[in-house]
Amino acid sequence: MNPWVFLALAIAAIALFLWIPHWRLQRALAAPFPEPWERILERNIEISRALPEPLRQRLRLLVKRFLHEKTFTGAAGLEITDEIRVTIAAEACMLVLNRPGDVYPGLRYIIVYPTAFIVERAQMDEAGLVAVEPRDLLGESWRKGKIILAWDSVLRGSRNFTDGQNVVLHEFAHQLDYEDGSVDGAPLLGGERSYRSWAAVLSQEFEMLQQDSYHGRESLLDHYGATDPAEFFAVATETFFEKPGQMARHHVELFEVLRAYYHVDPRDWVAEGRQTRSERGAS
Ligand SMILES: [Zn+2]
Repeated sequence: MNPWVFLALAIAAIALFLWIPHWRLQRALAAPFPEPWERILERNIEISRALPEPLRQRLRLLVKRFLHEKTFTGAAGLEITDEIRVTIAAEACMLVLNRPGDVYPGLRYIIVYPTAFIVERAQMDEAGLVAVEPRDLLGESWRKGKIILAWDSVLRGSRNFTDGQNVVLHEFAHQLDYEDGSVDGAPLLGGERSYRSWAAVLSQEFEMLQQDSYHGRESLLDHYGATDPAEFFAVATETFFEKPGQMARHHVELFEVLRAYYHVDPRDWVAEGRQTRSERGAS
């Protein structure tokens, strides 16, 4: 074969190879949001009903992209349905609703168990002895592109967006944390100033939560956030989205750095019709 013809064919093949995934994504994004998916959002994603229309449109687009790019696998006999896929995708996309960039580019696989799953972890006791002990988990985020979730906990969290407990928000916050390659409670922020204010505010709040946890004092943020800075960011994210009014009142600076990072103010969604029980003054 003429070498020039061969070269032209090779270049065309490479161009096609690169273009096809892009074309498939564009086709998926251009397709209408299926009506059954809309019903799932209405049924399971309590907060989606309170979003202003531009953000609802954005959520639909992100869900289509998420479902096009990520692979779901059922474990322990769970069959993956559209309800499971759309519910998890929608909640995960709440964290990137108004942020530029790709949708969890490092994440490939979501593994879903019907209920809490058991993992065996090496634990060191106070004497320094290491023992492998089974632990029940509702969710787990891996650095290498994988998240594991318990479906019953996912559903409980998605239908109650006011209690500050949400396993999907928690595990996907960890994925955001991993985007810069380290697990330290600081995601990609852009700009030295952002990192400085992030570190100052989060380390102070983390210390306060550690004190609350140590002394057994009640706190708005779950004491699990006192485990380490990565868990603090994940727990603070749950509180930011689910109890925004209380966080803005009692943790002013923390609320502001998270608002700047997520580019949303979940208090606006309260004004759109959602109001938490505690914010209404109910018990
Ligand atoms: Zn965690």
